[in-house]
Amino acid sequence: GTEAGPGARARSRLTVLSGPSGVGKSSVLAELRRMAPRVHFSVSVTTRKPRPGEVDGVHYHFVDAPTFHRMAAGGELLEHAEFAGNCYGTPRAPVERALAAGLPSLLEIELQGARQVRAAMPEAQLVMLAPPSWEDLVRRLTGRGTEDPEVVARRLAIAKQELAAEPEFDEVVVNADVRSAATRLLDLVVGPVPGA
Ligand code: 5GP
Repeated sequence: GTEAGPGARARSRLTVLSGPSGVGKSSVLAELRRMAPRVHFSVSVTTRKPRPGEVDGVHYHFVDAPTFHRMAAGGELLEHAEFAGNCYGTPRAPVERALAAGLPSLLEIELQGARQVRAAMPEAQLVMLAPPSWEDLVRRLTGRGTEDPEVVARRLAIAKQELAAEPEFDEVVVNADVRSAATRLLDLVVGPVPGA
């Protein structure tokens, strides 16, 4: 194929970042954005209501349930999943455009979605962002204070399951400090594609 051999252009890479709620994915991604303007960051659609400070079209495309289900049924989503009572999905077209243009693309999604991407695109790289410890995660998730206790409890239960899936991931990045985690993640996102 045209991708083989020396001098061939490296394939652009699709990276999936997952990690339990509260692990600091948003902070690490914000740092990564500052470091890496030439990376495509996927903007998901969700039926969740915006949190204070979240901007439609930037953090998410906030849609109603009928719109979400129409997109899913129409094949517009690369993957989609339900998480803590809301629907989330990755619009397919922007990711395909970025990869075709030679830009590395990054999806920040939960475990079920990561598994769907792995099945659909086996060459995708799966990266888990992990907390330094379970206690640290509980502290961070409880301290955010934007969600009611029932939601926090539900997310902690999901977090336990997500952390247990670590062996399914290609790489684990521990978020002990945001700057180091973002630097490590950037290496993975823009690094050479194995087999390219
Ligand atoms: P939050 O509501 O805290 O923004 O996100 C909840 C969970 O949904 C997080 O684990 C986040 O990674 C995940 N998520 C965000 N967008 C998507 C998506 O497009 N697809 C899937 N499967 N999960 C997503």
